[in-house]
Amino acid sequence: MPSRDAIKARMRKRADQQSHRCPWCGRALSTEFVSHEHIIPRSMGGANSFENMAVAHRPCNKKRSSNIWQDPVPGPEFDFIRKQLRILRDAERSPDGLMILRGRGSRKPAATPA
Ligand SMILES: [Zn+2]
Repeated sequence: MPSRDAIKARMRKRADQQSHRCPWCGRALSTEFVSHEHIIPRSMGGANSFENMAVAHRPCNKKRSSNIWQDPVPGPEFDFIRKQLRILRDAERSPDGLMILRGRGSRKPAATPA
C-alpha cells in the first residue's frame, strides 16, 4: 500500500496532468472536495496504480461510481482515462478478461462479487 504522502504526491502529479480539471464535469478542481478514484474499480480488478488513478470532484466521483462507463469530457489530458476504459471494455468482452485484470491488479485474492 502506498503511504499517505505517496498518494498525495501522485494526486498532485495527476492533477497537473489533468490541467487541474475534473474529468467528469470539466470544471476546475479546487483543493477542497477533491478525491482520487480508480478508473477501473478495484472490485472489477482495477490496479492500485498511477495509470488507473484519476483526480475528480468528490460528488462527480460519487455520481460516476454508479456509471463506470461514463466517458470523460473531451481533451487530451483525459486520454489516460479513455485508455483504461478501453482495457476494461476489452476485458469484459473476453470470458477470462476480468480474471486476468484481477490477477494483474493485486496479489491478494480478489473479493468475490456480492
Ligand atoms: Zn467535477
